[in-house]
Formats: sequence, structure tokens, C-alpha cells
Amino acid sequence: MRADPRRHIPGTDTLLASPEFADALRSLDRHTVKSAVVRAQQLARTGQITPGEVADVALMSLGTAGSTIRTVLNATGVLVHTNLGRAPLSRAAVDAVCRAAGHTNVEFNLSSGSRDRRGRGALDALAAAVPAAEDVHIVNNNAAALLLCALAMAEGGREIVVSRGEMVEIGDGFRIPELLESTGARIREVGTTNRTRLADYAAALGPDTAFVLKVHPSNYRIEGFVADVPLAELATLDVPVVADIGSGLLAPHPMLPDEPDAATAVRSGAALVTASADKLLGGPQAGLLLGKHVLVDKLRRHPSARALRVDKLTLAALESTLREPPVPVAARLDTDPTELRGRAATIAERLSAAGIDAHAVESHATIGGGGAPGRWLPSAAVSLPESVAPRLRTAEPAVVGRLEHSRCLLDLFAVTPDSDTALIEVVRRCMS
Ligand SMILES: *Cc1c(COP(=O)(O)O)cnc(C)c1O
Repeated sequence: MRADPRRHIPGTDTLLASPEFADALRSLDRHTVKSAVVRAQQLARTGQITPGEVADVALMSLGTAGSTIRTVLNATGVLVHTNLGRAPLSRAAVDAVCRAAGHTNVEFNLSSGSRDRRGRGALDALAAAVPAAEDVHIVNNNAAALLLCALAMAEGGREIVVSRGEMVEIGDGFRIPELLESTGARIREVGTTNRTRLADYAAALGPDTAFVLKVHPSNYRIEGFVADVPLAELATLDVPVVADIGSGLLAPHPMLPDEPDAATAVRSGAALVTASADKLLGGPQAGLLLGKHVLVDKLRRHPSARALRVDKLTLAALESTLREPPVPVAARLDTDPTELRGRAATIAERLSAAGIDAHAVESHATIGGGGAPGRWLPSAAVSLPESVAPRLRTAEPAVVGRLEHSRCLLDLFAVTPDSDTALIEVVRRCMS
């Protein structure tokens, strides 16, 4: 007869004294950590988890303490998924956020003992990353960057000239033209959905023109009989051109040849470039503004700039993202598909060995709302029965996959290799 496995459940004091729990005990009070251990031991006693899983389950449940925001393993195959918090921060950026969490020198010069420019470090890092830009500014997100352009440059109901092919809805019902009009500025549409020429822009310019806005169609593609005007040609017009490049690439990326980048946009003559920091740049939510000093300065001094400014945690994460590459998004983009296939095979094998209906399949990942629409990247996934999807979503950590042909695919493109063990454990728990 086999010995009762419940006898092997590790004791509370043994677990709390083990090095695995040192971090949790540093950041949380002892009572919270102990309760999590007791709950996990109870799960083992009732046979819901194995004794060997007690420590992991206790530690994972602590991840949820005090906040309803939980850890999710993004197995959707969408690298920058807006519903899942877009870019994951690098370890260095997380450390920077932790350092900034208490009192910090976000707006204070420690050598002189006097007030300093807010977020100087992040601003300097951004300026250094795009030397072609005369000046830079950081706001809450790309939408805020566009809002500030409209408020400061198109005040008094002046006109913003936009191509009909670039009237973009960015998500959740929010539309860039409506965002701009909410400031009192007027949108002057030019061209047609599929074709807009330089002459269309030129004909629309007048004394009321504030600027021409060029929006990158980051979540759709118009194909066929199309024409749009390159930035360099727009820049020959006699008004400032604001380029919303969306994804936040600061320099061209070899795998994303159609994705605009800030350095090229500035060099092509954009007076201002706006971008998100939490898409392909791989940083925290923020809006980047780069371009001509006179305009950046005007935006920075506008009264509403104060309402759009970012907090110290964002500044810390952004500076680290810029100064300490590579960040996870860039590393995921650079991953060799062969490596993904190898990981999928290993995970599927280990699950099959545990009697689970799992196999490795070829897959295709996308960048997401953040860029490169219509571009598929080779990837690999672990295919599971569809019925496990809801259990995976409510597990700890939560796993969100993709439903395809009545199977639940766990695409590994956006999953870092160091999460593979956790992924296997969660699937095993959900399917036993
Ligand atoms: C994502 C995106 C936005 C919105 O950016 P947020 O940072 O989410 O405010 C605006 N324009 C384009 C082209 C985008 O791709």
C-alpha cells in the first residue's frame, strides 16, 4: 500500500523559513504570508494540489494580495495586447519603479538642494535616444500627446488637416478625430479613404490651419488602389506637420520594415512626433513628444500640460527602459522561431507524460494594436482541449490563450522562457 501523500505536506514553519519565502516576508506582513501557506496546505490535504506544489501555490496566491490586478501569462500570440497591459516591463524597470515608490528626487536636485526639472533623467534619456529631435516631452499616453498638440497649437477653433484614410479609431470606441475636436479644434478632412495627394493637403491650407496631422494606421491596412503622402513631402508644406507614429519605435526595426520610427520621422521633417511608450518601445504607459524646440516648449508651458503629466513611477520605468536595453518586447521580437518550436515541444511532452491531451503546433503571432497590422510572425503553440480555457484564465497565475478550431492554443511568442515551468504547472493543475 502506498503511503498517504498528505503526510508529505511541508510544515508552516519550515516553509516560512525557506529562502523561497524571503521576498514575500520582506514585502508583506507575516500574517498574510502565513495565511497563504495555510490555505495552500489545505488544498494539498484535500488532494487538489500535490504536497510539492504547496510552496508555489502559496507564493502565487500572494501575488494577488491587496490588488485585484493579477499576473497574467500572455499566451494569446499578441505581443502588445492592450487588454493585458501592453508591454511587460524589464526587470531593471521594475527595480527602478520600486526605488521610486517612496520619497525620491523626481523633481529635486540632490547636489544643489533645490527644485529641479521634473523627470530630467527620463527626458535626457529620451533625447539621447533620438538625437535628431531638438527637444522632447513626456505625457500620460499618446492620446494625451495628441490632445496637448491640439490644445496648444489649434486653440481658438483652428483647423487640423487630416487625410480621410487616417481617421483612426484606436480602440474601445475612442477616435482620434473626436479626441482632437473635443478641444474645440476643427478637423479638416482631405482626400479619400484610399487616396490622398499632396495637392489635396495644399488646397486645404489657409490662415486657419494649425497643423497637418499624419496618423499611422497602426491597427488596419488599406490595400489595393491606394496613395498617401510621405512625411518628407508633407514637410514641404508651409505648416507644421505632426506625425503620430503610434508604436513608439525610436529607430527602424529590421523585422518591422513598414513600421514608422521617431528618428526617421523627425529627419523626414515632422515638426512634432507623438508615440506611445508601452507598445514596441516596451516601456510603461506614457506618451512621447519629440521635435522642434519652439513647439515642444509651447506644449510644455501650456496650462493643460500639468493635467497630462506623468508620475514618478512612470518616469522611473521609462528612463530604465531607455537606458537599459534589451527590454522584454524587443527580446520577444528577436526570438528565433526554432527556439519557440523547441519550447512548445518540451512543454507538450511534459504535459502528455502527465496524461494530458497536449501537442505542439505551428502558430502565427502578431504585434497587436500597437503596430505592424497584417504582419504575421512565425510562432509555436501548445494545443489543449478548448474546455480548459476558462479554468486557465482563473488560475494563479492566470493564463490567457487563443481559441482556434475548437482548441485552446497557448502561443509562446509573448511568453518569456522563464515562465514555461509555471505554465506547465498551471495547465497540470487545471487539467487534473
Ligand atoms: C496606440 C495608438 C494611439 C493611442 O495611444 P495611447 O498611448 O494608447 O494613448 C494613437 N495613435 C496611434 C497611431 C496608435 O497606434
